[in-house]
This record gives sequence, structure tokens and C-alpha cells, in this order.
Amino acid sequence: MKLTRGINLRIHQIIERTRANGPGVRLAIWVQGCTRNCPGCSNPETHDASIGEKMQPAELLSIILESEKEIEGISISGGEPLDQSEELLELLKCIKDKTQLSVVMWTGYTRTEIEEMLLLEKLSKLVDLIIVGPYIEKFHKPEGLRGSSNQEYIFFTKKYFEQDLLKVPNAEIIFVEGEMQITGINPEQIKSWFK
Ligand code: SF4
Repeated sequence: MKLTRGINLRIHQIIERTRANGPGVRLAIWVQGCTRNCPGCSNPETHDASIGEKMQPAELLSIILESEKEIEGISISGGEPLDQSEELLELLKCIKDKTQLSVVMWTGYTRTEIEEMLLLEKLSKLVDLIIVGPYIEKFHKPEGLRGSSNQEYIFFTKKYFEQDLLKVPNAEIIFVEGEMQITGINPEQIKSWFK
């Protein structure tokens, strides 16, 4: 595998163990930066593309490899992963070449937009499932890893089916370095307990 030197992904957060961001136990990566501005987005702190920790795909791969035996796969969200498509593809190639892990990814772009960006075929070789389309408040219906019902599944492999996704909890409480975090497709479900 040949890595392109100097390529960095802007990262918002990595959670090494989660059960609410895809099937099974997963390592989740949230990229930093999103140009979509969906009203009602539950992750506005990930939008600013001028911040975030810059990490090379090889660095991310080494973190992933440390967890490989204890996880089922990698989940990639944001922010908008496809706003850093060159860097993202490099990371996905690393994961594909060096691990047996499944990959689930979210993007606010639609299938048509991804095709126009000439990315759909490339992703089809590297990812098991992408959940595509913007979050639209009036279609809010958090279930099966979708925040709103307009979002579409694109299954590139037979690793997962829709019924697997419907079993994933919409939210969970986890502790990262002693601090409580609420994560998942509908964190408001748990946040409302504390209001
Ligand atoms: S694409 Fe995702 S991160 Fe970006 S604004 Fe829409 S819901 Fe938020």
C-alpha cells in the first residue's frame, strides 16, 4: 500500500468503543468540517473546517489496529466526510488493505450528488454501507441509523441488512476520559432526561 505523504484528515473526535453508531461494537470517527448546514443538525460543533485535529491516515490506522480485535467495524461520520474526499479515500484504502473490519459511513450528500462527484464507484469498493442525504427536520424520524426518513441506505456488500440497522440503539451514554458523553443518531432522546 502506497500512502500519499502530507495528506491529513481534520478530525473532530474518535470514540474507540460505541454501540450506537452502527451494528455491534465499533470505533467511530467524526471528521471536522461540513459545508451542508442542514437546519436542526445535531452536530453543529463539527461544521467549522478551520479547526479539528489534523491526522494522517496512517496515524488513524494505527489507532484502529490497536482496537481491531475488540470491534466489529469502523463508523465514519461528521461533519461531512466527503468534504475531505481525497483524504477520506486514503483512510478507507488503509482500512481495507490492513484490516477485516466493516465500514459504515454517513454523508449529507445525496446519491446523485455523490455520483456527480465521481465518488460512488470508489466508495463501493471500500465501504459496506453508506447512509446518504441531508438531515431534514420535517422528516425527523430517528431509527436504523437515519436521523430523517429522506435519508437513503446504499448497501455495497451483504455484510449488513436494514433489519441489522433497526436493532442499533438510537443513543447511548459513554464515558470518555472520565467525562460523560451522549452519542448516537438521536442524542436528544437521552439529553431530554436531564432537562
Ligand atoms: S451533513 Fe450532517 S453534519 Fe453536515 S449539517 Fe447536515 S446533518 Fe449536520
